[in-house]
Amino acid sequence: MEFETKAIHEGQAPDPQTGAVIVPIYLTSTYEQQAIGQHKGYEYSRTGNPTRNALEEALAALENGKFGLAFASGLAATTTILSLLKTGDHIVAGDDLYGGTYRLLEKVVKNWGVTTSYVDIDHITDFKTAIRPNTKLIWIETPTNPLLKIIDIAALANIARQNNIILVVDNTFASPYFQRPLELGADIVVHSTTKYLGGHSDIIGGAVVTSNEAIYAQLKFYQNAIGAIPSPFDSWLVLRGIKTLAVRMREHEKNALLLAEFLAEHPQVEHIYYPGLPSHEQHQLAQQQMSGFGGMISLELKGGFGEVESFAAKTKLFLLAESLGGVESLLCYPAKMTHGSLPETERLKRGIKDNLVRLSVGIEHFSDLQADLENALSK
Ligand SMILES: *Cc1c(COP(=O)(O)O)cnc(C)c1O
Repeated sequence: MEFETKAIHEGQAPDPQTGAVIVPIYLTSTYEQQAIGQHKGYEYSRTGNPTRNALEEALAALENGKFGLAFASGLAATTTILSLLKTGDHIVAGDDLYGGTYRLLEKVVKNWGVTTSYVDIDHITDFKTAIRPNTKLIWIETPTNPLLKIIDIAALANIARQNNIILVVDNTFASPYFQRPLELGADIVVHSTTKYLGGHSDIIGGAVVTSNEAIYAQLKFYQNAIGAIPSPFDSWLVLRGIKTLAVRMREHEKNALLLAEFLAEHPQVEHIYYPGLPSHEQHQLAQQQMSGFGGMISLELKGGFGEVESFAAKTKLFLLAESLGGVESLLCYPAKMTHGSLPETERLKRGIKDNLVRLSVGIEHFSDLQADLENALSK
C-alpha cells in the first residue's frame, strides 16, 4: 500500500460492532473481564486503549516499522526511550538538538548518572571518535533545528551497528512522508506528534516507532510502567491529523520552496537555510535520503535584533509563536524562544545568531504568505 492509503486505512478499519467508519474515541479507564483472568485484550487504559492502539498501528505503518507507541508528548516519548539506559551509560548526541531534549539530557538524565557528549554534526567521523566503551545510544535530529543541517542517517547507522549502539532519529521536522529513518538503518524513530503528524496545533503528543522486537518489548513495558500516555481524545486527534499528512506535507513544501527562493533574492536577507535550495550545503544528501525538503525555513536578516524585532512585529499571517508543523504559518526567534535556555556562548557557537529567524511555513496561499513577508521586510 502507498503512503497516502496507509495514512487513511492502517489501524483504522470500520468499527466491527457498529460499522462506524471512523475509529471511536474509547473514553474508558477500565474494561469488564469475562471471568478472572479472562478479558478481550484490554484491562486498563494506561496499559492499552483501542483508540491509542489504532494510532500506534497507523504510526508504525507510516514509518514502515513493525511497532508503534504513542505518548503524552514528544518529551514523554524521549524520556521513555532514555529509560532504557542505566547509571554509567553514555550517549553521543548531535549538537544541533531541540532545546527541550538538551535540557532533559543535561538537567534530568545526567542526575541518573547517564552522561552525554555532543558532536559537531558537520563531521560524521566525530561521532565515531566520541564513542566510548559505555556508549549505548546515538541521538540525532535531521533536518536539525533551527539551522536545518542534514546528517547522513545510513552512514551513522553503520557506525552504530559496528559498535552495537542503538541509533535514535528524531524525525519530527521531516515527518514520515518525506523521510523514513528505519529504512536507512536507524533502530528507533521518535516524533513530537504535536507538529506535522497532528498538524493542526491543537494537541501535545509524542510517538516512537521501531522494528526491533526486543527494543519494542522494553519500550512497551516502560510505556505502561512510566505511564506518560496520551488520552483517547488526543490519540484520536493525531489519528485524524495523520489522514491528511501527505496532502499537507506537499503543500507545506511547495510554499516553503517558493518562499525560500523569494527570500534568497531579497536584499534585506543575509542568509537563507533551506535544504531544498541547491545553495544549501547538504542539498545533495537531502535529495538522497529525503523525498522532499519539508516546510521549515530559517533566515538571517541584514542587521541585528532591532531588524528582527520590527520584522516579527510587522508580519500578520506569520504568527509569532513557538512550535511548528501546523496548517498556519508561524515565526519564531530561536535566540530568545526555542533556544533561550542555551547559554549565549553555547548558542553562538552553534551558529544561532541574533539575526536568525525560523519560519514554519503553513498551507495558506503562497501569494498571501509572500505578500506578508514582503511587507514585513520593507523599510
Ligand atoms: C517539539 C519538539 C520536540 C518535543 O516535543 P513535545 O511534543 O513538545 O514534547 C522534540 N523534538 C523536536 C524536533 C521538536 O520540534
